[in-house]
Amino acid sequence: MSDRRGDPRNGRPYRRLIATMRAMGASCVHCRQPIDPALRSPHPLSFTIEHVVPISQGGLALNPANCLPAHRRCNEKRGVKPMFSPHSRIW
Ligand SMILES: [Zn+2]
Repeated sequence: MSDRRGDPRNGRPYRRLIATMRAMGASCVHCRQPIDPALRSPHPLSFTIEHVVPISQGGLALNPANCLPAHRRCNEKRGVKPMFSPHSRIW
């Protein structure tokens, strides 16, 4: 393994991405409720990034196209299950 950076979620670019998305006042992709930008981890309603393709499955942590806003609570509830069923028409 030549990647010495480890988990990209520990890096400064990732933190900046979180700060940017949080400041936009986005709503949770799961429950559709707004996410209070004043809340901080580990508050269950604090802002987290939901990865459309999980990083463990090769998803890009820093690609905004792969990042959606979610409550920590909602994000953890989903786990690693696919967010969208093949039959959904959400796109
Ligand atoms: Zn939520």
